[in-house]
Amino acid sequence: NADAAMYKAKELGRDNYQYYAGVLTPAVADRLDLMNKLRIAIEARQLALHYQPKIDLLSGRIHSAEALIRWQHPAQGMISPADFIPLAEETGLIMPIGEWVIHTACAQAMQWLMLGHQPIRIAVNISPRQLHHGDLAQIVKTALDETGLPPSLLELEITESMMMHNMETSIATLHQLKAMGVYLSVDDFGTGYASLSYLKKFPVDCLKIDQSFVRDIAIDRDDAAIVKAIISLGHILNLSVIAEGVESLEQASFLQQNACDCAQGYYFGRPVSNEAFTLLLDTPAKLTDKDLNKAGLKQ
Ligand code: C2E
Ligand code: MG
Ligand code: MG
Ligand code: MG
Repeated sequence: NADAAMYKAKELGRDNYQYYAGVLTPAVADRLDLMNKLRIAIEARQLALHYQPKIDLLSGRIHSAEALIRWQHPAQGMISPADFIPLAEETGLIMPIGEWVIHTACAQAMQWLMLGHQPIRIAVNISPRQLHHGDLAQIVKTALDETGLPPSLLELEITESMMMHNMETSIATLHQLKAMGVYLSVDDFGTGYASLSYLKKFPVDCLKIDQSFVRDIAIDRDDAAIVKAIISLGHILNLSVIAEGVESLEQASFLQQNACDCAQGYYFGRPVSNEAFTLLLDTPAKLTDKDLNKAGLKQ
């Protein structure tokens, strides 16, 4: 059976899976091939972080940035994280990759700080295995120590379902990170199954409303109501609230009108290279008074 063969191959290590190729289904062989390519991707410098701005809806200015991994494969071109992060997670490769992401993101934020820009917090996505099976707090501490980045300028994005899994250890790890001064966000909020009573057990600072609720806020009454409810919930619990997947002025205006703190999405800026993001830091606010006037938000 394919899973058993895969497991066997994994146990045998990096060069030996060919012996089992005869019993592998094409899908499994593809995955093994991708896995072996991913193994060398860090050393071969094929991985890069792109950065997407998070916008403060009061000022219209860049508030922080989310680091999103990109894999530029020499033959296959750009491979989306949706296509390799799950595999990296299953195989354990996420551990070295995740550590590289944390370190690189901290180094980048420190560089922005030293260039004299306003302090930009950097958000890093954490995978389930990193939260549950590694020493995440120690890895984060090492990255902060080595780069000199103030802990408050590092944000970790953790999904709701990750927190609900292995809850005791998750809460303990999050408390360790919180004690260090790191900022914590719940990613894809609303898609998991955290009950409200659990939410207050987690020492988090921010809710990220999942883009599936944001997409139709301007036209779907239910989505509009859900988004308003999440904003209220967040504020009652003293959390900051950000909406992801904001693609239009209408969506941005709705969120601003309903006191959402921040927004992120193609309307404000796509994920871009570090060089391009550095240039963005010097450009004026996107959500100008003129835009707000147009949307009827300012008299
Ligand atoms: P996520 O953390 O929820 O990130 C949001 C995704 O939505 C990103 O896709 C982003 O490029 C995309 N996005 C941003 N604005 C818009 C918009 O206005 N419209 C639409 N349709 N999409 C928008 P991306 O970069 O492909 O990343 C996908 C997922 O892969 C992320 O979801 C995250 O779960 C994971 N991921 C990305 N980088 C890393 C990483 O370094 N480590 C880990 N563990 N996971 C990562
Ligand atoms: Mg995220
Ligand atoms: Mg998300
Ligand atoms: Mg997502």
